[in-house]
Amino acid sequence: MRASTTAAAPRIVIGASHAGVELALRLRQLDPDVPVLLLGDEPVLPYQRPPLSKSWLGDPAATPEALFMRPAETYAQAGVTVRSGARVARIERDARQVVLSTGEVLPYSQLALATGARARRLGGPQAEAMERAPNLHCLRTLADAERLRPQFVAGARLTIVGGGYIGLELAALAVQCGLRPTVIEAQPRVLARVAPPALSAFYESVHRDAGVKLLTGVQVDSFGFSADGRIDAVFWRDAAGHEGRLPTDVVVIGVGVLPEIELALAAGLVCDDGIVVDACCRTADPFIVAAGDCTSRPVPGHEGRMRIESVPNALEQARTAAATLCGQHQPCLGVPWFWSNQYDLKLQMVGISRGHDTVVVRGDMQSRAFTVFYLRQGRLLAADAVNRPAEFMLARKLVTDETPVDPDLLTDTAFDLKGLTMNRIPG
Ligand SMILES: Cc1cc2nc3c(=O)[nH]c(=O)nc-3n(C[C@H](O)[C@H](O)[C@H](O)COP(=O)(O)OP(=O)(O)OC[C@H]3O[C@@H](n4cnc5c(N)ncnc54)[C@H](O)[C@@H]3O)c2cc1C
Repeated sequence: MRASTTAAAPRIVIGASHAGVELALRLRQLDPDVPVLLLGDEPVLPYQRPPLSKSWLGDPAATPEALFMRPAETYAQAGVTVRSGARVARIERDARQVVLSTGEVLPYSQLALATGARARRLGGPQAEAMERAPNLHCLRTLADAERLRPQFVAGARLTIVGGGYIGLELAALAVQCGLRPTVIEAQPRVLARVAPPALSAFYESVHRDAGVKLLTGVQVDSFGFSADGRIDAVFWRDAAGHEGRLPTDVVVIGVGVLPEIELALAAGLVCDDGIVVDACCRTADPFIVAAGDCTSRPVPGHEGRMRIESVPNALEQARTAAATLCGQHQPCLGVPWFWSNQYDLKLQMVGISRGHDTVVVRGDMQSRAFTVFYLRQGRLLAADAVNRPAEFMLARKLVTDETPVDPDLLTDTAFDLKGLTMNRIPG
């Protein structure tokens, strides 16, 4: 890839968030001779997204600067030119240039796509009125959080549509801040897409005990609007035909994200629920790589490709993509991991549990410190550790090494799991 770069043109990175920043800085470390231009359409310096649903939203005094990944000088010192508020409207691959929404044309020698994902919206006949409602929110960007924060006040009746990690983190923060949250989840249990029934049940009981109202197996049917266009009620129904009306002050839609692939699609790159990349983050164009939430990537130990929405994945792919552009071979071989903080519970997850044939729990869920292990054919596939950082670290190693493990040893709390790295079952 490196051999045929255009000497005068910079490397351009589109998307200035977790993946884009890491990519840009790494490019300069690996190859200080080629300038790097980091283009981001948000009007602020790159910032950390995870705190938006955790501490930041609940602190009226917290500033945007508190979220910034790096101060402006760091980019300047590293030789990365950051242009905030710069939206790329088009990629012209034949000419090797991008066109901004302002019409400005910027040539590139090589290009990296780190365009991430955007919050999924609710469609339907009320979509237009919903989008106009001043108290309807999603939570993906700093701007979303800044718009929500003045309404995120004690006493407010908050309806959260979607019982995934972000919805539950928000619910936890809301009760801690004195709001009255209700979570509406269409699936029969929260975290249904990502966790086994036992873990869902654990989180449901934690939230209910804390004062969160949970409606599972329930669809939002429609919204009621006040004369000034605010949503003042959520109408729901369940599979059994029960219906209800939930008065509300604020609504947050947390029903997942869609990858930002329009630029790539319009440029003729292969996309399939994400920009298709290989383990080295290469797209079908030898001058273009992609990294982060916008990609659909192979994952070691699993067939096909998948989209992984997490900061660690964005960082790992970014490092790989930068290496690829600089002519180095550094495929993404790490096992995906993720975290979620709710109340006093620090959940750390490693691996992809898809395809497991056995689930065992180590420890007592009542004690709020335990680990759920997922196995396939006697090997550890994934683990969810709640307040068990040491077991998380160990599980990470066992999953990475595909170590054969005996499920009985995993559940035997008298057995030191460190022994598992020595206690290999011939396999
Ligand atoms: C509230 C919240 C809490 C989260 N909590 C956690 C957590 O606890 N742990 C965890 O691992 N992950 C968490 N995540 C997920 C994590 O933030 C994402 O996986 C991560 O941000 C992905 O980084 P990215 O750089 O790939 O994409 P993004 O962060 O989505 O960034 C993409 C950037 O590209 C910009 N862009 C898109 N198109 C263009 C264009 N045409 N021109 C210019 N710029 C463009 C976007 O505006 C955006 O700034 C959370 C996410 C949210 C929203």
